[in-house]
Amino acid sequence: MVICPDPARRAGRARYVRGVAQLLLVEDDAAIRSALIRALSERGHAVSSTPSAMEALQLVVDAPPDLIILDLGLPDLDGYEALRMLRAVSTVPVVVATARDDEADIVRALDAGADDYLVKPFGAGQIEARVRAVLRRVAADGKGAEPIVVGALRLDGQAHEATLHGRRLDLSRREFDLLHYLAARAGQVVTKRELLTQVWRMPYGGADKTVDVHVSWLRRKLGESAQQPVYLHTIRGVGIKLAVPPQPEPR
Ligand code: CA
Repeated sequence: MVICPDPARRAGRARYVRGVAQLLLVEDDAAIRSALIRALSERGHAVSSTPSAMEALQLVVDAPPDLIILDLGLPDLDGYEALRMLRAVSTVPVVVATARDDEADIVRALDAGADDYLVKPFGAGQIEARVRAVLRRVAADGKGAEPIVVGALRLDGQAHEATLHGRRLDLSRREFDLLHYLAARAGQVVTKRELLTQVWRMPYGGADKTVDVHVSWLRRKLGESAQQPVYLHTIRGVGIKLAVPPQPEPR
């Protein structure tokens, strides 16, 4: 089912102006779907919807929305798998709606590329506020701006591409976001709490070791280690700092 198809969507242009967005709702529960469509439409958003993950993937390719609200419990595809497939073809922000509320499931969804999550049941006001917050963040992210260059490291937020000495780094979305966040603040110590809040969107709870694990993956991909850091420095008891290497590195 597709509601309010808009020719502008076909052109794939950025349409998020004055807080109104093209949303794609992927939800197989007909009652939840119609309630959300009504609530989000009343707030001025244009809402398309489908009960199928596979159809959602097709829609995202054909007519990218500004944001996707994705139910993790879909009949045709596991929600995490759907998220991974989505991330392979698109950087469109995703808010996951899930009935599972334990931290491991939420971390898994965020690591698979979700930008935010809501635990069911939730009110229309809450999801609309989350949608607005994610869209504001994406707009303010600076990811549309100039690439960030720190030493031999170059991060292109628009292309979601990171290179070191001109060689492309194979980073997950979360790794890229973490590196991008740190690189945008090169030379500053960023606390793990800030990273959990800003990169993982987990202001409450959230385990510091989530950050540690991702930093260690990033180090491996950058070819450095905690013992011999080049870019990523752990400041014990404070946080993580991305530093400009003092000298040009040997290639
Ligand atoms: Ca469902």
